Amino acid sequence: MSTRPFNFSAGPAALPEEVLQQAAAEMLDWQGSGMSVMEMSHRGAEFISIAEAAEADLRELLQVPPEFHILFMQGGGLAENAIVPMNLAGRSGKVDVVVTGSWSKKSAAEARRYADVQLAADSAPYLSLPDPAGWQLRADADYVHLCSNETIDGVEFQQLPELRQLGSRAPLVVDLSSHVLSRPVDWSRIGLAFGGAQKNIGPAGLTLVFVREDLLNQAQAICPTAFNYKTVAEARSMYNTPPTYGIYIAGLVFQWLKRFGYAGKTGLAAIEQRNIDKASLLYAALDQSKLFENRVAAPARSRMNVPFYLRGAYDTPQLNKAFLDGAREHRLLQLKGHKSVGGMRASIYNAMPLEGVQALVAYLKDFEASHG
Ligand SMILES: *Cc1c(COP(=O)(O)O)cnc(C)c1O
Repeated sequence: MSTRPFNFSAGPAALPEEVLQQAAAEMLDWQGSGMSVMEMSHRGAEFISIAEAAEADLRELLQVPPEFHILFMQGGGLAENAIVPMNLAGRSGKVDVVVTGSWSKKSAAEARRYADVQLAADSAPYLSLPDPAGWQLRADADYVHLCSNETIDGVEFQQLPELRQLGSRAPLVVDLSSHVLSRPVDWSRIGLAFGGAQKNIGPAGLTLVFVREDLLNQAQAICPTAFNYKTVAEARSMYNTPPTYGIYIAGLVFQWLKRFGYAGKTGLAAIEQRNIDKASLLYAALDQSKLFENRVAAPARSRMNVPFYLRGAYDTPQLNKAFLDGAREHRLLQLKGHKSVGGMRASIYNAMPLEGVQALVAYLKDFEASHG
């Protein structure tokens, strides 16, 4: 068992210790090549083998169908908010956005610079999910955007909508930055998905894009060549220099996930089961607490990001500070909530062991016993 503290950062977030150790061991000499991965040509045989293995492992883990390209890009989730409309909103120029929290709200605002944006729904104050039956969808939209896990608000789609059943023929675009690889993905409902790596995969700087082949021919003329999905797909993510070290670390995380075992399961099924168990444990503790609360409606609660607040009269700056100071003393790191919403947030991504959540729950109970 590790002696490192438990790190609840929302991102960049904790990585599996085994992965960090392997990267450290290979830092000066990757597998007898005499080079660090950071020092290799992205077009050399060594790095090509790293990138190809990473892509194949990711495709296997998430069961990505052959009609989807996997692109290793840069710019993070926020750049994709511009890159997606520049690539997809080249026909009617209409984009429908489902706003379920801070990140999809940002996506809508950025897409307005490149497209005619309509809000299909806006579920402010983001404590539940809007019923798809009530979404305002335009028949000729180039795509419909949603964020499947709202990292700040702690709201997660447990199931993606079937747009065809809602009378829309538009492809669904999903920002899955903060829960990719925490659960399976229903590709039959998706046209494009993107995610920054720094939440649940690897270091900041790598952005994953999964794009269906038939969506590669509708870019706007202004789309930068290096961000044109068709160009990047045809060059197998090597049109320009990709974030090589990020791809390497992500590849080590994919290998870790493939051999991961839990509750008699392996791979993605095992990590999903552990994520369910961790989230259930934490939400149960918050729901039973007299001092703390999570405010999200149960069906919309995120398995990955759990915002929580001191209740009512307990919610003072002094008690919030006492909680966070005490957490650090208990070696529970980065529990402060996002600056826009305050309070606390525990991000319990794939790399967080069950023991980390057990330690947090024990501290919540101790704190309540001494301050409640
Ligand atoms: C973190 C995050 C982003 C922004 O990512 P950057 O890499 O900072 O651009 C976008 N969407 C979601 C859901 C996120 O969690």
